[in-house]
Amino acid sequence: MANILIVEDDEKGLELSKIIIESLGYETLLARHGEEGVRMAKEQLPDLILMDIQMPVMDGISALKALRSDERTKEIPIIAVTSYAMKGDKEHLFEVGFIDYISKPISKDSFIKVVEKALRRQHERDKKA
Ligand code: MN
Repeated sequence: MANILIVEDDEKGLELSKIIIESLGYETLLARHGEEGVRMAKEQLPDLILMDIQMPVMDGISALKALRSDERTKEIPIIAVTSYAMKGDKEHLFEVGFIDYISKPISKDSFIKVVEKALRRQHERDKKA
């Protein structure tokens, strides 16, 4: 059973993401800002992380960098969730190390596609390892 950490400061966005992911049969862990997300990721080692970009305390890009610099968490795939996905922004997200992104406002179908694709890819990698 996959465990997915959702890091999101907007309470409605957090709840919506949680409902969609749990409807797929996965477990969720919830964090309200980047610093809490980093701490939970290190403690729980989730299979996948959905990371909002604009958050108080620590933004999503800083949180990704913190996770990438730690041996225990550097391989966990992280998907950006962002409302300012202009073309240049998307390229920047891939450059810094996000494996994919979800645009806000969230569309349920594309949200599910991105999550399932990431989990499949992770599963394939685990089989090879
Ligand atoms: Mn936000």
